[in-house]
Amino acid sequence: MDERSTAELPSATEVVVIGGGIAGVTTAWYLAAAGVPFALFEKGRIAGEQSSRNWGWIRKQGRDPRELPLMVLAERLWTEIAAELPEDVGFRRAGVTYLIEDDADARRFENWLDHARLLQLDTRLLSKSETDALLPGNCVPHRGSLHTPSDHRAEPGRAVPAMARALRARGAAIHEGCAVRGIDVAAGAVTCVVTERGRVRARAVVVAGGVWSRLLLRPLGVALPQLHVLASVQRTTPAPLVTESAVGSRKVAFRRRTDGGYTLARTGASRHRLSPASLRHMRAYLPVLKDRWRELKFRVGADFFQALADERQELDAPGPFERTRVLEPAPDHRLLDDVLASARRYYPQLEAVQSAERWAGAIDVLPDEIPALGPVPGVRGLLLATGFSGHGFGIGPGAGFVMAQLARGLEPAVAIDALALDRFGADRGIVSHAAT
Ligand SMILES: Cc1cc2nc3c(=O)[nH]c(=O)nc-3n(C[C@H](O)[C@H](O)[C@H](O)COP(=O)(O)OP(=O)(O)OC[C@H]3O[C@@H](n4cnc5c(N)ncnc54)[C@H](O)[C@@H]3O)c2cc1C
Repeated sequence: MDERSTAELPSATEVVVIGGGIAGVTTAWYLAAAGVPFALFEKGRIAGEQSSRNWGWIRKQGRDPRELPLMVLAERLWTEIAAELPEDVGFRRAGVTYLIEDDADARRFENWLDHARLLQLDTRLLSKSETDALLPGNCVPHRGSLHTPSDHRAEPGRAVPAMARALRARGAAIHEGCAVRGIDVAAGAVTCVVTERGRVRARAVVVAGGVWSRLLLRPLGVALPQLHVLASVQRTTPAPLVTESAVGSRKVAFRRRTDGGYTLARTGASRHRLSPASLRHMRAYLPVLKDRWRELKFRVGADFFQALADERQELDAPGPFERTRVLEPAPDHRLLDDVLASARRYYPQLEAVQSAERWAGAIDVLPDEIPALGPVPGVRGLLLATGFSGHGFGIGPGAGFVMAQLARGLEPAVAIDALALDRFGADRGIVSHAAT
């Protein structure tokens, strides 16, 4: 853990940011740029959870049209941040490609092109022969692909920690290993956060707690229908280049890494451990379950009852945020063996790759698979940036930029009305519009 974890806690600041993932750290980035005093609290280590465990795809391709304008902004911000960082975080313009394997893919991608055209993106459909030229020797049974040359990638293990180091070098107050137990509200406005090391008063509080955001908001009576699913990933030993583009298909999704290996996984293959929250919010998830039930595995474990107990966090005693400093789910080895075998079978360049490391991450999801961003209705000064539903590494800097604007009382640079929390008021008609 960083030496600054023992730094003095301020008794008051302008803005408290809860969470040291990409949403929290980029919020801090833009608060620092505007000269606004802030303190960021991270219960474990910077980017210990989703922000270091993801695939590293920074894509506009296939995104839900409601989050696409923010993603376009985020891509520009990524470029600026990467240029400012003193270390290489693997940020590259390398493209994203999704293979078309059946009629349903073809229809979905064709429809999505309408959104790409509206924003003048460079996404286009590639024929089978154009796709084969991009992926020499591949034997995936495909008919072509959807391809966006301007999409990016970066190394998740390096990017957010590098941003936090750069912020600290400029004197920013980033407190690792310091959990926020709760948020105090009086007369309809936030007054302070209660951390494990004492209270800190603030005018605004940004909740960017990833899968923990629901638990943080629940004592305030804010019902966020957020759940999480577990997804497994592996990196391989170095291998010859297939393509610089990140590539998705039914059996294997891969991204070239700066160490010469590949990050391999399978789109949509995730597990959900049933919790009291999943039962409570099940109705809101019915449309997405109807679409995805084949890809999801459900489990019930002893942690069901622990999760129930965790919902009653006391402010004067250690609770769930201190008990689990870093959420470390176990990877699904059977799935990853199958993904590795598919990669070897479909791409001659990957014939001899070995698995070098495996891990899993808990992805925070919302019923319509787009984030909840903006003010929490009824609590002045409380802002939310969560529920990125597997897209937050790419869109994170856009969210951070907008959060910093809102915390300063400014209008957001990009309209975020469609991402407002109050869309869950009546949980009917909540559906995802993403193409991938
Ligand atoms: C396997 C996997 C693959 C993915 N692939 C991609 C991809 O290719 N492209 C993409 O764009 N996105 C991807 N994602 C999603 C992306 O990683 C997330 O959307 C994004 O990292 C979310 O960032 P965050 O800051 O909201 O949350 P996190 O990174 O989870 O950070 C939240 C932080 O808040 C801290 N915290 C929580 N509660 C408290 C508290 N009470 N006090 C103090 N600290 C607290 C946590 O410890 C945590 O570090 C993937 C995710 C996974 C798991």
